[in-house]
Amino acid sequence: MYFYKNEFIPKSDIHLSPDDRGYYFGDGIYEVFRVYQGQLYEQEAHLQRLQRTANEVRLTFPFTIPQIGQILTDLVAKNKLIDGTVYMQITRGEAPRAHPFPSHAEPVMLAYCTEVPRPAATIHNGIKAITFADIRWLRCDLKTLNLLPNVMAKQAALDHGVQEVVLHREGTVTECSASNLMIVKDGVLYTHPANHLILHGITRAVVLRLARALDMPVKEEAFTTDQLANADEAFITGTTVEITPILEVDGGPIGTGVPGPHTRKLQEEFVRTFA
Ligand code: PMP
Repeated sequence: MYFYKNEFIPKSDIHLSPDDRGYYFGDGIYEVFRVYQGQLYEQEAHLQRLQRTANEVRLTFPFTIPQIGQILTDLVAKNKLIDGTVYMQITRGEAPRAHPFPSHAEPVMLAYCTEVPRPAATIHNGIKAITFADIRWLRCDLKTLNLLPNVMAKQAALDHGVQEVVLHREGTVTECSASNLMIVKDGVLYTHPANHLILHGITRAVVLRLARALDMPVKEEAFTTDQLANADEAFITGTTVEITPILEVDGGPIGTGVPGPHTRKLQEEFVRTFA
């Protein structure tokens, strides 16, 4: 069962309009939630980020935030989802193609669930990455549908036979195609500050909270691709990838080339937040 506009309906009954501004302009916003044991993980944080993005792009919700929370909770229940994800987006609505905000269009919400297990193998074994120029706009803090640069970057990784890209602006690392990046050097955890150049990841915030609780020194400071190459440990954080170790960047090993002790400790603590 999907949610579309204002009802729960089967996917096959959804009739999308070609005039939806999501198609023409990527004029919409989205969120991805993880569902553990039938519960939406960090629901409030995701909804707050959705609200913030909506405000910044001047998109008025068709529902209140508590109503959206209830719709998504109902969606999970109707689909009997135990372990998986919920995708939701809201576009600015349907109107003949023209750049200005349409005066009468109603925003359109779409949401659905996917049953998908945690990516246990890559969480355990880690992944490889390449560096890639971050050519995105200067509002990467907004979770909008304009994901073509992320799509191009991710495909470049796959074309190189690795799983992820480390995005950088003239040598300063920002984040990855759909996750944030952290490194450990001499026991200190570094990650890019939550400004306009990265998405303010919910998992990033959880991991920083866990690190501080473990008395691990945390520095929300940008680092370079050279610092990444010389790091003791590196890992990405995200709703679907959780904490996934990065073992190799551009063919060179990070640290000893296996998931490090800080990464493992944070992974252990992370599981405790939902298990
Ligand atoms: N950065 C980007 C560009 C992303 O798309 C995502 C995934 N939504 C993240 C970081 C991680 O954010 P979160 O932990 O909220 O999933």
